[in-house]
Amino acid sequence: MGRMYLICGKCHALHWQDERPLNVTRAKAGTFEACCKHGDVIMERMRALPEPLNTLMTCQDSQSRLFREHIRRWNALFAFTSIRFNADDRTGANRQGVQLFQIHGRLYHQQGPLVPPAGLDALYSQIYLFDPVLAAEARSARAPTLDPVLIASIAQMLQAGSPFIQLYLTAREQFAQLSEQEPNLHIILDPQLSLIVETGADLRRENLPTANEVAMILPEEYGRGGFRDIVLAERINGEIPNRGFSIINPNHASYMPLHYVLLCPCGEPGWHWARTLLNEDGNRQNLRMSQRAFYRFRLHTRTDEPATLMRSQRLFQQFVVDAWAACDQNKLNWLRTNQAKIRTDLYNGLADVLQRCDVNMDEVGRRVVLPSSYVGGDRFMQQLYQDSMALVRHFGKPSLFITFTANPKWTEIQDELLPGQTAIDRPDLVARVFNLKLRDLLDQIKHKQVFGPWRGWVWTIEYQKCGLPHLHLLLFLQTDAQFLTPTYIDRFISAELPTEDDIIGQRMREIIQTTMVHTQCVEGNGNALCMKDLNPAIVTTCHKGYPYTFLEETTIPENGYPQYRRRNTGRSFIIPVPGSGGTLTAVIDNRRVVPYSPYLSLRYNAHINVEVCCSVQA
Ligand SMILES: [Zn+2]
Ligand SMILES: [Zn+2]
Repeated sequence: MGRMYLICGKCHALHWQDERPLNVTRAKAGTFEACCKHGDVIMERMRALPEPLNTLMTCQDSQSRLFREHIRRWNALFAFTSIRFNADDRTGANRQGVQLFQIHGRLYHQQGPLVPPAGLDALYSQIYLFDPVLAAEARSARAPTLDPVLIASIAQMLQAGSPFIQLYLTAREQFAQLSEQEPNLHIILDPQLSLIVETGADLRRENLPTANEVAMILPEEYGRGGFRDIVLAERINGEIPNRGFSIINPNHASYMPLHYVLLCPCGEPGWHWARTLLNEDGNRQNLRMSQRAFYRFRLHTRTDEPATLMRSQRLFQQFVVDAWAACDQNKLNWLRTNQAKIRTDLYNGLADVLQRCDVNMDEVGRRVVLPSSYVGGDRFMQQLYQDSMALVRHFGKPSLFITFTANPKWTEIQDELLPGQTAIDRPDLVARVFNLKLRDLLDQIKHKQVFGPWRGWVWTIEYQKCGLPHLHLLLFLQTDAQFLTPTYIDRFISAELPTEDDIIGQRMREIIQTTMVHTQCVEGNGNALCMKDLNPAIVTTCHKGYPYTFLEETTIPENGYPQYRRRNTGRSFIIPVPGSGGTLTAVIDNRRVVPYSPYLSLRYNAHINVEVCCSVQA
């Protein structure tokens, strides 16, 4: 695949040769879909970071590396808004010291009241209202393990560059002044980033005169409605209500910049409703830019903007999850308010069968129907299931079950990492390289017919607990009963360490030893996921069946899966026992090899488990 050396002619994003779109018109040649929709999505670039942040984000000295390692804590210390979510700490989410940002359920950004309720410490935006010395003390108290000198110098940097600080200060001043005369008072940051005062029983709206340069000119319709406003301070009937934190609408242009202060220290606006697409001659189209398109643009590295996001390690992971959650929330909201439009979808094909089944009379409230096109929704999973069952009815049993997992060591990923990074820091690269390899794999199976004539398939892509994408594929082949002979299976599938000693054999062995042996439960390692049982009182064995016993010939039992040939060839290698810190070693031989296709393993250097399906239990 080579390096990412192609540059999009419209937005200057970097691409691999293989990402070039096929069959595009002349006007679109040299441009790409994923980064900017061939020039439709063009917007302001990320600005260069001010110092000391720029050094901390780019340099390899120990202070900068430590800063990036703890970047989520640093960001939380300076964020104007807080973030709330349920961390996904189910077994395995953070195993093997791999730190990943994973959530389940909703994710919120919250704005606190400008002045903390009596008796509580100042948090988030509240700290910015202190004088600098007090603010530094308050921050160091919140994060006693972070370097106080660095805290002070980042605070100074933000004082000089962030437009929000002045905005909050003005809001507080005005609130204090007006509180004297107005029993009913709201101070609001509207989607156009101007401060609004609402007063009186009828809540008259009035713009506050501020000298900030962030305010945007948005068409009036987007400024109305008020549901996207951020309430900074309020007084009702002469009292300051003790509301605590309030949730911010993810469609507010400041939703991201108010939290990701270290990624956009100058308050660069995020996505908002008034962003539009460009047309061919570079003029604005009357088409809205979708939130997804906005984030896709941001998630590409470019020759003409700093790779700030991609340098921010765990904060980048959090940003990606956050952006995804915001897009998802928007889509769900759209579905909720456009139920009439998706009715048609409901009475099509499979959907109406499901419609009849899922009426639950006990359900309170309005039922919201997710169309099957909503990826990850019940209906989508149901449709996938229905599709595969329809294929089974049509084609008969599937022939092969294939699992393909991204390999973080792929040179295409390693070559593009920034200094000091590992693949875990770059979910963007991992996803793109996986996607390209996946396309090639599907092409090999369908058009190059590596397993014989293709008839059909059904597949899904999931993200594993360790953050790597993987594919599950059920493959239907035009084969007759002869496919199910041991000789035929041995031609395509092996469960043995390679024995050839030429150059290809050596390469093959390296690949199989690193990707296709089941090692987690070596020496009965009880911490391995495959050894866990729902009932921990029961002593378990590996539920994937490893180690298998040696077997001279591939056999196919009457009603079950084939047992692959695992000859006792004497070939083995040694690995450190997981969790022993390298003090113990174990011998690995053919009993722990996961069935693989030699052709595919050599081609992709990844975990690709290929198994014959003799029975489908679905
Ligand atoms: Zn582009
Ligand atoms: Zn196991």
